[in-house]
Amino acid sequence: MGYTAVHAGSGLLDASLDDLGCGQSWADVHRVKGLELACPECRGRVFARISPHRARHFYHQVRPRDCALANESPAHHLLKLELATAARAAGFRAELEVGNEARTWRADVLVFDEQDRPFMALEAQLSPMTPQDARMRTDRYAADGVAVCWVAMEKRPWERGVPSLRVAPPGTAGTHGRCAMEWRATPGPRHTVKTKATWTRISCSLDDAIRWILQGGVHAHTGPDGTVWWTARSYVPAYIPPHPEQPINNANAAYRRLLRDGFMPRSTPVRAARWRRT
Ligand SMILES: [Zn+2]
Repeated sequence: MGYTAVHAGSGLLDASLDDLGCGQSWADVHRVKGLELACPECRGRVFARISPHRARHFYHQVRPRDCALANESPAHHLLKLELATAARAAGFRAELEVGNEARTWRADVLVFDEQDRPFMALEAQLSPMTPQDARMRTDRYAADGVAVCWVAMEKRPWERGVPSLRVAPPGTAGTHGRCAMEWRATPGPRHTVKTKATWTRISCSLDDAIRWILQGGVHAHTGPDGTVWWTARSYVPAYIPPHPEQPINNANAAYRRLLRDGFMPRSTPVRAARWRRT
């Protein structure tokens, strides 16, 4: 299942956009006899369909074993759409399933800046990946000037080594599209072990997290030990303790300060579960 297909006349179709990204309508491609559509990844023939989750997409006539788009899970499929929707809600152009010319990467969601240059990839990474692979794939994007945010639904060994978010899995009663953002105090020189306990996980809506990331409200900061976390730029120097004897290692205090400065909403409204589209 993918959100994109290649149309001989119109080029790349994006099922997540009302006009399919090219001035056409869903009725122009859904159940149209004789229409030839191809998978952008494997070039196999695909057809337009609506999933049980009501997500419009394209499926392969014959499912090839080696096509990433054909073999992605329903959860991955839906999370990609959530990420694209969040990026668009934040005011950005976002394309699904787009790769670079050298074919060294293909982003689940590629986000473009005001000059229409790609600057951020949002990757729904639900299958296992080693920390080394995460770093290598992040570096491939970086070679093209594109940053990445990796999004997981469970704790992963790579989540501290690259910019990442963790979202709550869908489908559970009362579970909403939320994600966790982390930051911690910069360790003081004498607090190597203790400060590792100062990580604070912030829950917010996925929309908020993506908006902060894309609009630059938070950025991926790499600590001295290589750990990466999202934090506001103004908080990086704030974490450096004025005196080694008085380290700011209380993340709750940092969080209160963040609230006081108006960066984070005081209460994050719990949204209806957008995982289940109706
Ligand atoms: Zn394919």
